[in-house]
Amino acid sequence: MTTSKGDISKMSFGRTGDGTPVDIYTLRNANGVEARITNYGGILASWKVPDRQGKLGDVVLGCDTLEGYLKGTAYFGCIVGRCANRIAKGRFTLNGVARQLAVNNGPNSLHGGLRGFDKVVWQAAPSATPDGPALELSYLSKDGEEGYPGNLHVKALHTLTRDNGVRIEFTASTDQDTVVNLTNHSYFNLAGKGDVLGHSVQINGDQITPVDGTLIPTGELRPVEGTPFDFRRPALIGARIEDNDEQLRFGGGYDHNWVLGKPLNKLGVMARVAEPASGRVLEVLGTQPGVQFYTGNFLDGTIRGKGGWVYQRREGFCLEPQHFPDAVNHPNFPTTVLRAGGTYRQTIIFRFSTEK
Ligand code: BGC
Repeated sequence: MTTSKGDISKMSFGRTGDGTPVDIYTLRNANGVEARITNYGGILASWKVPDRQGKLGDVVLGCDTLEGYLKGTAYFGCIVGRCANRIAKGRFTLNGVARQLAVNNGPNSLHGGLRGFDKVVWQAAPSATPDGPALELSYLSKDGEEGYPGNLHVKALHTLTRDNGVRIEFTASTDQDTVVNLTNHSYFNLAGKGDVLGHSVQINGDQITPVDGTLIPTGELRPVEGTPFDFRRPALIGARIEDNDEQLRFGGGYDHNWVLGKPLNKLGVMARVAEPASGRVLEVLGTQPGVQFYTGNFLDGTIRGKGGWVYQRREGFCLEPQHFPDAVNHPNFPTTVLRAGGTYRQTIIFRFSTEK
């Protein structure tokens, strides 16, 4: 499909273990920016954007083949759901019914369970829209899947925009009250190589939700003022990451949720990242109340990625717009409960530009 706004094409990406065919779509806009998205896990597998000289480079971590993703990655580029981030001990009670989810991360449930939205094959519908080439991914998560109540119909509309953004518009509806928190889990490296400690980050949040040793929020909203978590002005990722700070020790670096200053459900700029050598700048926008900033602390050289790059600790970072971790167990956090008959709607935009 080609228009003056760009084009989208489809290729086979192989088959899953049970023989389900998987495709990969290439979206290109009029500036030559190219994003590749597969309907396995909704993974943004590559994204080539210009540096300040106009040279295109891939800015996301990932694998060359479907087999790479099937072997398991650290959630590279995928859609995370039904509930992104951690739920303490995999337990919650909704409408008086206690639910037990799979415990897949120490004592907790992480990123939707054993087979979350990152490991399923989505229905894909490509189109050319006035904003740019688009790929709509849909998935029906059945009542009881991974322990969650309700048949949840999810859509994730991905658009490669004219201003070099990837916009993801999530909608979901359910026939029973349930818990929903969707995000995209792209790991970025704006230099396309090496660690990310020299990237400069700004996050528009005055507070974090501090965690216990298993990375579950304590419930407190803690001001960032005077701590290594103060990114209200741009600071290098590496500047304070080794500080003697209990929160940094718990995460092995940054692995925390920032409470954003913007109004709830309003699209706003959450974070900005600049990489001085390439001049690339990433802006992260979203409608969600929080953003998880994770500095790839658990990458350990066991995943062989694109072009043979073996990803080491802190060679990528994530900025995941989302509701707060374990919100279902914290009445003081914005709710992740979606009521039967209601519609979940959230948007994420990752947008690239360059600076001198
Ligand atoms: C979490 C990390 C986790 C990673 C998995 C992030 O969203 O915050 O703690 O290790 O996902 O790749």
